[in-house]
Amino acid sequence: MEKIYVSGHKVPDTDSICSAIAYAQFLKDSGQYDAQAIRLGEISRESQFVLDTLEVAAPPLVEALEAGTAIALVDHNERGQAIDGIEELDIRQVVDHHRIANFETKGPVFYRAEPVGCTATIVSKLYRERGLTPDETTAGLLTSAILSDTLYFRSPTTTQEDREALDYVSKLAGLNVDDYADRLFKAGTSLEGMSAQELISADAKEFNIDGKLARVAQVMTADLASVEPVLPELMEAMDEVRKETGAQTFVLMVTDIFQETSKVLVSGDYVAGLASAFESPLEGSSFMAPGLLSRKKQMIPKLTDTITGK
Ligand code: MG
Ligand code: MG
Ligand code: MG
Repeated sequence: MEKIYVSGHKVPDTDSICSAIAYAQFLKDSGQYDAQAIRLGEISRESQFVLDTLEVAAPPLVEALEAGTAIALVDHNERGQAIDGIEELDIRQVVDHHRIANFETKGPVFYRAEPVGCTATIVSKLYRERGLTPDETTAGLLTSAILSDTLYFRSPTTTQEDREALDYVSKLAGLNVDDYADRLFKAGTSLEGMSAQELISADAKEFNIDGKLARVAQVMTADLASVEPVLPELMEAMDEVRKETGAQTFVLMVTDIFQETSKVLVSGDYVAGLASAFESPLEGSSFMAPGLLSRKKQMIPKLTDTITGK
């Protein structure tokens, strides 16, 4: 079988790690490719919990692939989030649940995009469509990704498809979902011992919006008040990174997943515009946005409107 690499996005989250491994397994199970999952960055605490619990090895960290190498992208498509040198690679497949932007291929491509809460939901559907059943470990990875990306259905990105997929894969994985979700989020929201620099880079994405470079990072916490004291430090670190990367704006969402609210910090342009887009009073360079949980579904559309002046 032909070799292919399966990659999630830079600064991988749990969906990018788990869906890459699970989709590589699917490509093998369905006899399409000899697939190998890779990752483009550090494993988050939450993802490490998943790998440890399910006893799965982390995909190898790969910084570059030889030109012409076959690759499948999961959980992303934008050039700025893909492996460096993506222009020179042979993109054969994409399985994703994000907006499509800055995307181009040399040859025909299998492209599966659905507006669901998680890439793993689509991978679960692909298994069922093929009449195949994910093994217990793969089902555990899919379960973890769905819980993580949908914040166990709290996120407004959640769809009925995600609920059905979670029901299907969690049974195959033999996991007690409530208990497992609790442990997963505890692992993921532990900010102990992390520096400001680590906090703003642990889950950061770059977006090209109307020709402007925007960085949007998110930190999940179970206790927003505990983050308050480090906000000035976070702002400083963001200013620095923004200057280094030449980004027009750096937005940090500090999200309390239990209170379902976010504190938004903005370094650079569009501070006032963004606050007014969320109808929130500006406090210095930050504002509170009750109900804000999703970068993709809530933040990016508002940031896009703000930048394009709509
Ligand atoms: Mg992701
Ligand atoms: Mg995802
Ligand atoms: Mg995510």
